[in-house]
Amino acid sequence: MKREMTCIGCPMGCALEIELAADGRVLEVKGNTCKRGAKYAETECTDPQRTITTTLRCEDGRMVAVKTDTTIPKDEMFEAMKMIGGTVVKLPVMIGDVLVKDVFGSNVVATQNRS
Ligand code: SF4
Repeated sequence: MKREMTCIGCPMGCALEIELAADGRVLEVKGNTCKRGAKYAETECTDPQRTITTTLRCEDGRMVAVKTDTTIPKDEMFEAMKMIGGTVVKLPVMIGDVLVKDVFGSNVVATQNRS
């Protein structure tokens, strides 16, 4: 079985061609210019991960931009959004402040300041 995807490791955006075994194992990756592309293809095919970027409501009603500080399994994105969605952020907030701890092993941190 073959799969095609674009590597997002850098702006070159190499077109990857992945040969998969019937059990889902990656047999070969073609089209990558560097090792990161092969690693990306392997992870994307066997254990896809995503960073969540979203906004949370502050106690004064404004929104603050946040993201997870590591990737989480793609299959857990919906559950993760449910876990953090109702959070009301106390002010002030500085970039990097942890606003929600341990969302599938990741922390949700502020990516902008709010005073
Ligand atoms: S394979 Fe390497 S060079 Fe190509 S897009 Fe991915 S990171 Fe960039």
